[in-house]
Amino acid sequence: MSITAIAQTFRTKKRERAFRRTDGHCFYCGCDLAADNEYVPLEEGGYTEPPGKKFMQLDHMTPKCLRGTLRSENVAPACEYCNARKGGRSVEAYRLWLCSKRGEPVIFYGDKS
Ligand SMILES: [Zn+2]
Repeated sequence: MSITAIAQTFRTKKRERAFRRTDGHCFYCGCDLAADNEYVPLEEGGYTEPPGKKFMQLDHMTPKCLRGTLRSENVAPACEYCNARKGGRSVEAYRLWLCSKRGEPVIFYGDKS
């Protein structure tokens, strides 16, 4: 197996673990995320999201700037919206912000550790 293939497998496993952690929901807002094999190929190349689901990104729960690590325990699946807005905030701080922004409770998936 080439180094590139090993690195690819490692990334895939990390994504799968993150996806399972929340049963396919965004760790922050709870929206449905698409598994990698659910992406819909476009005729002109690239992929789009399947209906009702969002692309999954990996977020570092404790941001690197707050001494978070790159280890799996610190990685959670997030939608693009949350990943782009969480920034350097802690999980709690971001979830509080999200609840206040929506004006209603948000269902959370997955545990923090
Ligand atoms: Zn989200």
